[in-house]
Formats: sequence, C-alpha cells, structure tokens
Amino acid sequence: MDIKAIAVLTAGGDAPGMNAAVRAVVRTALGLGLRAHGVRRAYEGLARGEIRELGARDVGGIIQRGGTVLQTARFPDFAKPEVQQEALRQLKAHGVDALVAIGGDGTMRGAAALDRLGFPVVGIPASIDNDVFGTDMSIGVDTALNTIVEAIDKLRDTAASHQRAFIVETMGRDCGHLALMSGVISGAEMTEAFRAHMGRYAVAEALGAGVTKIEKDGAGFALDTEDGRRFKALSVVYCAGKEYLRLGVPGEDRFMGKGIAFCATCDAPLYKGRKVAVVGGGNSAFTSARDLLGFASEIHLVHRRPEFRADPALVAEVRKAPNVIFHTPMEIREYLGADKLAGVRLASPDGKNKLDLAVDGVFLEIGLSPNSGPLKELVQLNPLGEVPVDRNQATPEKGLFAAGDVTDTEEKQISIAVGQGALAALSAYKYLADNKLTKSKAGRKEAWQ
Ligand SMILES: Cc1cc2nc3c(=O)[nH]c(=O)nc-3n(C[C@H](O)[C@H](O)[C@H](O)COP(=O)(O)OP(=O)(O)OC[C@H]3O[C@@H](n4cnc5c(N)ncnc54)[C@H](O)[C@@H]3O)c2cc1C
Repeated sequence: MDIKAIAVLTAGGDAPGMNAAVRAVVRTALGLGLRAHGVRRAYEGLARGEIRELGARDVGGIIQRGGTVLQTARFPDFAKPEVQQEALRQLKAHGVDALVAIGGDGTMRGAAALDRLGFPVVGIPASIDNDVFGTDMSIGVDTALNTIVEAIDKLRDTAASHQRAFIVETMGRDCGHLALMSGVISGAEMTEAFRAHMGRYAVAEALGAGVTKIEKDGAGFALDTEDGRRFKALSVVYCAGKEYLRLGVPGEDRFMGKGIAFCATCDAPLYKGRKVAVVGGGNSAFTSARDLLGFASEIHLVHRRPEFRADPALVAEVRKAPNVIFHTPMEIREYLGADKLAGVRLASPDGKNKLDLAVDGVFLEIGLSPNSGPLKELVQLNPLGEVPVDRNQATPEKGLFAAGDVTDTEEKQISIAVGQGALAALSAYKYLADNKLTKSKAGRKEAWQ
C-alpha cells in the first residue's frame, strides 16, 4: 500500500517520553515527505474524528513536557465493532493511511483491532508498568523507576532515624516490574534472598531488639536486650557491624549517599573524571586517596591537622600524584549544593582561612565505631574497639564467635562479612558438637535453645 499520510495517538496512562515519541513520529513522517496528523484524546477522539494535521512547529518545545500534548482517554467502547468501524471511517475521511499508537497493553489491543480490520498500525510501547508483551523496556519506565528510587532514598534516612518501617507502594496492576526493579536497585533483594533462605529452616528466630549485654551464663551465654528480655544460648555468633563516623555539619544528612560516601573501594569508579574530596589524615584516608588516583580527575585531601597519622610511605605515594591537592589544617564546615552535592565549604580550625571547593563527591575517612559495646566486659577488644577473631571467627571467649565489620578484619566488605558469617556459623556448630553441647541435629531449633 502506498502510504501518503499517517496519524499518531497516545492512549492509556500518560508517561514522560510520550511527547518525544510524538515529535519523532511527526518530524520523521514530514522528513519522509508524508503528511502527519495528531489524534486528540486517544481512541475516543479517533472515533469522534478529533484528527488534525500537524506541522513541524506543532511538535516544537514539547520534549521536556510531561504528560502527552495529544491528551489521552480511557475508552472501553472501542471494543465494540461498530465503534472500530467508525474510527476507520474517520481515518479514511481525513485521508490517513496508517496509524502510530503510543501506549500500554490496552492501547495495543485497540491497535490490534484496527490491524485485524486491515488498517496498517505501528505500536510504540509506553507504559510505566513495563507490561507490554515482547518488549524489553517501554517509554515511562525509566522515569518511574528513578522516581521510586529517589523516594526510597529519601525515606530511608527518615525511617532509620525514627526506627520505623515505611511502605512505598508502586504502580503495576498485574505486573510487579516497578516493585521488583526498584527493590533490586535499592538493595532489597540481597536481604530478601537471605531472609527467604533462612525462613525455610527452623534455625533462626528474630529477637527484634538491640542486644545491650552478653555475659557468661554457666556453659553458655545470656543476652540482655534493650526491651528488658533475656535470652540464653550455648554459643553466640556476634555480627553487629560498625558505624562510620560523620562530621555532623550542615548538609550531611541531605547528601548522604548522594555525593557523600565512605568506601572508595566500593564507589571510586563512580567518580571517574570527576572531582572529589577525601576527609581524614590516617591510613584509611590515604588508602582512599590512593584508590581514587586512577579514577578522579582531582582529589582534595582535607585534614584538620597539619600533620598526618598515616604510614609515611603511603603519604609519600599519594603526595607524588599530580592530581592530589592538600588542604591542611582545614575542616569541612558545610556541604553545598541543591539536589546533589556540588561542593564543600572549608575553613581552618581558627576560622581565619576560608575556601569553597567545587567537588562531586566526598569520602569521609575519619574513623569507624564498631558496635561492640555489648561484648566489652566479655572479651578484650582491640584499640579500635573491634572484636578480635581467629581464622575460624572464634573470639578469645570460648563459644563466642564474631563476623563482619565488627571484627578486627581489615577489609570491611559485604562479601567478606557474608563469608565470615557462614564460617562463624559452622565454627559455632562444630564447637557445640565437639563439646557435646548439642545432640548434633543440625538445623533443629531445640539443638541450640
Ligand atoms: C554507604 C555504604 C556503602 C557501602 N558500599 C559497599 C559496597 O558497595 N560493597 C561492599 O562490599 N560493601 C559496602 N559497604 C560495606 C558493607 O555494608 C559492610 O561491609 C557490611 O554490611 C558488613 O556486614 P555486617 O553484617 O558485618 O554489618 P551490618 O551490615 O552493619 O549489619 C549489622 C547489623 O547489626 C545490627 N546491630 C548493631 N548493633 C546491634 C545490637 N547491639 N543488637 C542487635 N543488633 C545490632 C545493625 O542494626 C545491623 O542490622 C558499604 C557501607 C556503607 C555504609
């Protein structure tokens, strides 16, 4: 068939990107020497003949606008054969030879009906639910996912501060794509995978409260929790992690995770070709700066004292690098930026020297605080407050094992913590079996109660 004129419509829910698609359809058609038409209010407008010829300027300046300039409508009546026939009549009356339908699965059903009647139709999937069969990604999904992840990012800090759970409800009708993908992006899948696995075995029970103290109790241990309960255990695996120390200056909460980071090993590649500041004067700060050397274009090392505590060899190596700039003695007094971090306000400790530094990221390397308080009367902690462990994750206290960031293991990484947790659990089991504290029924709850 010789196509001389096309029409475009947007139907179903609106989605950012629909306008860009309309513009592309119209201008491409005009570029190919075809006439282009816009159908107002989707299939309802089509059946009522709301069809207008469009020029290139009619679709100018619409890309950045949300919604759809052609407007949309829900129109269940389009399932009726007589309404479809009327739509065909309107298309022919306006000299339209083919239709481009932009929308979700309902839109595609309408398009399929016209196709069955022999009218040429092209479908462009636009559905924030991403539920159009046979497509990888439809228009609107990216914006919806970013909006959800941004909401989760914002709620996470508030939820932590108030010790509350927040529910983020996402759209999706019969399709869980947005919920699943935003969960994956926000890191929920890792915890879910572990939780689901644990749920299959009767080996763990959530105490649901912070442990305040662990002490010896006969052959085993007694654990006190902050809500006044006391639990008994023959062996304990302690994995309470650590907290990163923060500066506590204005803007820190706002930019946490949006420019402020703690782990160069984890996040250095995100700052390729960008400017960063590293705060601190010890080995952690200099190791971070060294890890960033191959990525960041400029590394500003900010330290509140003129001298450094880090190993002299490490300091010398970082000093040699051409892209490291030292700011001493200087402190960050404020984080600058609107939606994301744009810089830091520095001042000398006496406040006499001031400097605003434009950076995209700040790595805080000013120390860690292991959550080892509940153990401090039971085991001798190292000078950093970490729990000493041997190669089997055993602490000096028999029957007490520890894993993850709370231990004296130098590298603080998820995969290391997970591996240590598994080793600690096996060591605890072996301890119970070797000392005949269990009847060796691995996986049975009564074995450890
Ligand atoms: C911003 C940031 C980004 C990171 N990025 C990465 C990365 O990209 N890759 C990577 O490998 N690592 C990364 N890490 C490090 C990683 O998160 C840790 O190494 C890992 O989570 C350590 O696991 P853990 O089980 O030892 O401690 P945590 O994951 O900290 O778990 C400890 C748990 O114990 C609970 N707890 C604390 N005290 C008590 C108590 N008294 N009673 C009961 N429960 C208690 C805490 O609430 C927490 O739930 C990052 C860390 C941060 C902060």
